[in-house]
Amino acid sequence: MQFESVIGLEIHVQLATASKIFSGAATAYGAAPNTQACPVDLGLPGVLPVVNREAIRMALTFGLAIDGEIAPACRFDRKNYFYPDLPKGYQISQFEQPIVGRGTVTMDSVDGDGEPRAIGITRAHLEEDAGKSVHDAFAGLTGIDLNRAGTPLLEVVSDPDLRTPEEAAAFFREMHALVRALRISDGNLNEGSMRCDANVSVRPVGTSELGERTEIKNLNSFRFVERALRHEIERQIDVLEAGGAVQRETRLYDAERDETRPMRGKELSDDYRYFPDPDLLPVRITSEMMEEARAHLPELPSSKRARYVDDLGLSQYAARALANDPDTAGYFDATVEAGANARQAANWVMDHVAATLHRHETDISQCPVSPGRLAQLIARIEDGSISNTAAKTVFDALWEEGGDVDGIIDAKGLRQMRDPDELARIVAQVIEGNPDQVADLKAGQTKILGFLVGQVMRATRGKADPRQVNALLKEALGVG
Ligand code: ADP
Ligand code: MG
Repeated sequence: MQFESVIGLEIHVQLATASKIFSGAATAYGAAPNTQACPVDLGLPGVLPVVNREAIRMALTFGLAIDGEIAPACRFDRKNYFYPDLPKGYQISQFEQPIVGRGTVTMDSVDGDGEPRAIGITRAHLEEDAGKSVHDAFAGLTGIDLNRAGTPLLEVVSDPDLRTPEEAAAFFREMHALVRALRISDGNLNEGSMRCDANVSVRPVGTSELGERTEIKNLNSFRFVERALRHEIERQIDVLEAGGAVQRETRLYDAERDETRPMRGKELSDDYRYFPDPDLLPVRITSEMMEEARAHLPELPSSKRARYVDDLGLSQYAARALANDPDTAGYFDATVEAGANARQAANWVMDHVAATLHRHETDISQCPVSPGRLAQLIARIEDGSISNTAAKTVFDALWEEGGDVDGIIDAKGLRQMRDPDELARIVAQVIEGNPDQVADLKAGQTKILGFLVGQVMRATRGKADPRQVNALLKEALGVG
């Protein structure tokens, strides 16, 4: 029997607010353990939480971006469970009234037909994160770091619309690009700013009823999402083919062994006894709040990609590479706005600019060469003043010393030789000076042409356009 898989993701996005969701404590990553733990987030007696307005705005921004239903009013609930990293004994979350209801995320299809796919979003709600258990700091003991307790999370739940592990990973990527474009999260996977739980079931191809599902907890990379799901789908198919039944359970992915296994019993308990948090007032979303959120809404990665392909003539690959990182997209857009040819600008940003940033271990938001300068540089390639190779030298000089494009071209003597008569004279000299090679070339050793081009380039100290030299030599020698 043939099976197909059905996948829904629950993605936790850490919001980039300056302070925690119900207290004024800082949220900077990497502080010494427990230095950002605050009485409110620990739920000490007598404290009162207050909702962070910035977190509400970010959730609304996300809701608008996915064309989601925004609840006119929402409230917070207590989700009760016992765990050492949750000293309050409950997590403040949203259960019955999430801030964002049904919406849609658009992503590229992974089967290469280029048609975008719409993935349904069931809901997105705000909640606080828990602390962290630290297993490697003390021999035989587990430490608890509560710095993360109370940092704001947006949990985004997708419909079971995803069909393959690749598609699930692509959706996770799309969400990553989206929240970064919206500037509501740094999306730093290494620091746990985005984690996801993957729900998966299988069913015989041709049937429409959903099979029993399992949930794989806490996947923190695109690759792990794909690998964990691939493994779990195989496991479920094996169970069904052996005549068994898939058990509804929560599993963990062990990346080292590349397998999933069930979590221990007490962690499975899902009787959370939700009830409205009596300390927090319901939140009413005003039209001013909606306007403020709308004002923060940038062009979305999916629209950017479509614009790059349809209007600027870029490849799907280039569109993805540029549009999915907001800083790269901003730099590229500014370069094109400054008048650069879009394809040249795309190649430069993806190639020499990216390589130089990488070499200096910095990122494009810190690039010392402005988009305007890059546009001038590209204009000089386009009008034939300099070769591509010379342009890289100019770029490196702009990077190191600043200055202006034409000034550097002249100071370094990089302007291409464009006088056809002068070039023709040099070509003639090279032909005259290399009679043996010319004879070999005419006898059919076509590779010799490259040698002669090199000789001309040398004689011009690299200032000629190699394509032009090539054409002139062929013409002068009468070879094809
Ligand atoms: P819970 O309340 O247990 O979190 P939800 O109904 O909220 O369950 O669903 C959680 C996630 O599981 C969603 O992303 C949803 O799309 C996905 N999901 C639900 N049923 C199935 C199924 N049979 N197979 C795969 N995914 C599913
Ligand atoms: Mg859930």
